[in-house]
Amino acid sequence: MIKEATKPMMKASNKDRIFYSQVNDINATTLICIGGIHGNEPAGVNGLQKVISDIVVNDITIKGNFYALFGNMNALKTNVRYKDFDLNRLWTKDEVESMCIDDDGNYEFEEKKEQCELYNTIKEICDSSFGDFVFVDLHTTSSPTVPFITISDSLNNRNLASKFNIPIVLGIEEYLDGPLLSYINEFGHVSIGFEAGQHDDENSVFYCEAFIWMVMEKLGLVSKRDFEYLTCNRILNIENGFYEIMYRHCLSESNQFKMKPGFKNFNPVLKHQSLANDGISEVKSPLNGLIFMPLYQKQGEDGFFVVRKLSKFWLVISTVLRSLKFHQFLRLLPGINRHPVNDYCLVANRKIALFLTIKVFHLFGYRKKIIVDDKIHFIKRDRKVIPFT
Ligand SMILES: [Zn+2]
Repeated sequence: MIKEATKPMMKASNKDRIFYSQVNDINATTLICIGGIHGNEPAGVNGLQKVISDIVVNDITIKGNFYALFGNMNALKTNVRYKDFDLNRLWTKDEVESMCIDDDGNYEFEEKKEQCELYNTIKEICDSSFGDFVFVDLHTTSSPTVPFITISDSLNNRNLASKFNIPIVLGIEEYLDGPLLSYINEFGHVSIGFEAGQHDDENSVFYCEAFIWMVMEKLGLVSKRDFEYLTCNRILNIENGFYEIMYRHCLSESNQFKMKPGFKNFNPVLKHQSLANDGISEVKSPLNGLIFMPLYQKQGEDGFFVVRKLSKFWLVISTVLRSLKFHQFLRLLPGINRHPVNDYCLVANRKIALFLTIKVFHLFGYRKKIIVDDKIHFIKRDRKVIPFT
């Protein structure tokens, strides 16, 4: 018997999107796990189903609330990343504002319907509880990889992520427009992406399963006795380190991009090393670093990234500076102004941005940068929790 206490009212089209829920205390923490936002990544859904099966068989009562959601339901059925648009690139402000206009159930594009349903589901969940919300988005990659975590660089995200002995990659939102978790982060909620391994690797399901249990344990939703704690802890004992994205190789639709074979995540690459061919010429690494998410599938907009490991010193300094709210001094510098409306945005002229370098903004917790006219907007990732809208 699946526990379904106080499942919130959903529009008819949304009810299947929640494939499990257990709501026990509306004032406690709510964990929301999403599997398969990319339809060719079923490991997240399968991992969730294994956890749910154990919860049901062993009659485990969650000390809080837990939801498991399908991401791209239609794409999951046909094992494709997406049909019309990547559902994990549609969460920009403009896209969200325009997504539910056609409310009669007829959508021109599959993913707009998926997005509207997923949005409504998340909103209903957020409106029905008063405790903290934690979001976990489960993914896999086209290349072989050890499991890793991706987060927007806020201290509350770092706090949960650093409880795991898994590589943690910061700053991916600076290079991608519209991931779901970047949107969630705007509301101050903890949100963690977990990449479990290669799409077809059977171990990816086990890594997802272990990660979900361990997140629940670290949030106090289950105890170590409720699951195979030692096994989960052992298989997720990989490497404690934070990485930062230094470069993204962006693809256009006309690209005939083909990665050279054999690259695995976090393999070292040298500046000028040939990594791929785009149909016209060789694609070389612009810098020394570690290759990250090399593309070995047809669909996707990112050929590869290059990352570097962050020093412990940088991490400690940035935590201290942000905890002491030193970022407020940035606003006093010439050439930097507060955004007239957005408290979490600094507007810098290009000269100042160049002088301070983006690294300084990163240190103070400003990550996402947008160029508006001749100014650069830096968006802070640490923020107070506000209602999901
Ligand atoms: Zn994915």
